[in-house]
Amino acid sequence: MESKKQEFSLWYLIIAGVATLMLQLYISQAGVNTLAYSEFKALLKAGNIREVTLGETALSGTLLTTGVEKVLPPDRAETLKLAKEPEHVFTAVRVNDPGLIADLDAAHVRYSGQADARWIGTLLSWVVPVMIFFGIWSLLIRRIGGAGGFGGGLMEIGKSKAKVYLQQQTGVTFADVAGIDEAKGELMEVVDFLKTPDRYRRLGGKIPKGVLLLGAPGTGKTLLARAVAGEAGVPFFSMSGSEFVELFVGVGAARVRDLFAQAEQRAPCIIFIDELDALGKTRSLNVAGGQDEREQTLNQLLVEMDGFDTNKGVIIMAATNRPEILDAALLRPGRFDRHVVLDRPDLKGREQILRVHVRNVSLAPSVELGQLAARTPGFAGADLANLVNEAALLAARKNKSAVDSDDFDEALDRIIGGLEKRNRIMIPLEKQTIAYHEAGHALVAEHRPHADRVSRVSIIPRGVAALGYTQQTPTEDRYLLRRSELLDRLDVLLGGRVAEQIVFGDVSTGAENDLQRATDIARQMITQYGMSESLGLPCYERTGANMLPMTAAMSRPEREYGEQTAQAIDEEIRRTLAQSAERVRQTLAAEREKLDLLAGLLLEKEVVDRAGLDALMNTPQVASPVAEPTAA
Ligand code: ADP
Ligand code: MG
Ligand code: ZN
Repeated sequence: MESKKQEFSLWYLIIAGVATLMLQLYISQAGVNTLAYSEFKALLKAGNIREVTLGETALSGTLLTTGVEKVLPPDRAETLKLAKEPEHVFTAVRVNDPGLIADLDAAHVRYSGQADARWIGTLLSWVVPVMIFFGIWSLLIRRIGGAGGFGGGLMEIGKSKAKVYLQQQTGVTFADVAGIDEAKGELMEVVDFLKTPDRYRRLGGKIPKGVLLLGAPGTGKTLLARAVAGEAGVPFFSMSGSEFVELFVGVGAARVRDLFAQAEQRAPCIIFIDELDALGKTRSLNVAGGQDEREQTLNQLLVEMDGFDTNKGVIIMAATNRPEILDAALLRPGRFDRHVVLDRPDLKGREQILRVHVRNVSLAPSVELGQLAARTPGFAGADLANLVNEAALLAARKNKSAVDSDDFDEALDRIIGGLEKRNRIMIPLEKQTIAYHEAGHALVAEHRPHADRVSRVSIIPRGVAALGYTQQTPTEDRYLLRRSELLDRLDVLLGGRVAEQIVFGDVSTGAENDLQRATDIARQMITQYGMSESLGLPCYERTGANMLPMTAAMSRPEREYGEQTAQAIDEEIRRTLAQSAERVRQTLAAEREKLDLLAGLLLEKEVVDRAGLDALMNTPQVASPVAEPTAA
């Protein structure tokens, strides 16, 4: 860029200037003798001075060396005579000497005044510090404002650092992304739109404005976003959320504005904001302030997204692994309302990802990718890529011609060691516990008429907290819930824990979140919805509708009851949950065979979808083919 060159030439200028000064100083000092003023006067009297230039504080001139030994002490005369030439340049510091001019006249010396005798001093004391100051300043500006140095620097503060990747630069297509076919399928529509925007515009179809990619670290969010750009062959503006948050208030906001302006000019294209959570954390939890800059930036992003017309062909994508901390405003319709979840890959997916990464690796026939995939439950795409790379490095170190299964074994040992520390892979017993837990949720949901249908059960760790999950799809949007529906929800939530209890005679910590949600539902039924028989209709707690949003987020609902009622409420919550647990226990005990079947299926395939569940629910009751698990 042009500003880049400018900045370079500035530095050259400064360096050149300083160098010239030094050189001049050196040259002018070389061969110059500094005389004491008394020596100068003595030489003047003796007629050795030929010419004098009078400065304000100094004088300089030429002197004749012949005969100086008669005037000066021998050692001084010696230095003056060291040089061969008979004429010598000298300087002397001027002292207050009113008779000087008269003396010069008397000696018939040619003399002249010098107006800017102090130019070097001036330069040194004034210009150089200023230059240094400018240098530091432009350096600072450059760091703050990204590109741009002197001059352009201030203008460029708000210019975004967003890099433009063109397709040939991303070089990533859907072929490079494996094992997350669902997410890919959802993004096909985006690719299609970017490729042929006119077709969509003509039909008046509604294109998603913002697509949020959710998934644990290393599941391929960044990769997938780049693949979308590569697949569609459009420019890819990418920026990390943390890059927006800067030292100066307003810089981030200016950058957002600039990013969108740039993107609009290059439509169709993709704007990708990686690690959106750095920028989009919930606002105003920090009452004391200090978050102004980030908030301003976030607000600007919201404004830009609202003012954006998708028909121009710009799609905004973002990625995060912590969706729970995102500001709700970001997720509202018209913003990042399309969510694409990237799960850790299942068995088949892991094999496909391994296949992608061994494309450029020469493998020995002993390597079986299917078997490797089976040994890597809980691995994300990045972990698998790392595995292949480690194995290749190990083989290279041993000078092998191909990577064999021993290398993979060794690499796997290393990586699992690292991952275990970070708690990301499951030991077999954990896996079994999780399988029964999720199977419990799913089976209870199948047996409760008012529960949402289960679309998918998985024991692949998802997100940071959840070890497995049972995904339910509501059949319709619900604004009102009946008591019977809430009770069924309670049952489904408790299904996991009760299943663990039945099967292992013990419970794990994995149900914590379930219990929290169950308790919340029970409490609300009793205190807000008047659904408890013993406590009746009064509404004991109000939701904080009339409170400021920030305090509502931090405080519990207002209490409107005394200590005795509080006790009664606690008692009632406990009773509601206990009753629910008992209902679930009966259901699961009666369905023990299916519980075992489903858990076995989960252990084998890691994911059971709707079709698999249907097949299971329709199997007649037969003796379970799955071996009894070893109890903890
Ligand atoms: P995230 O952004 O979700 O943290 P990345 O997209 O940065 O993860 O993934 C890091 C690397 O892991 C990628 O560059 C790629 O090599 C590998 N990887 C991750 N997921 C996949 C996948 N689904 N298919 C192929 N490679 C993957
Ligand atoms: Mg990433
Ligand atoms: Zn659970």
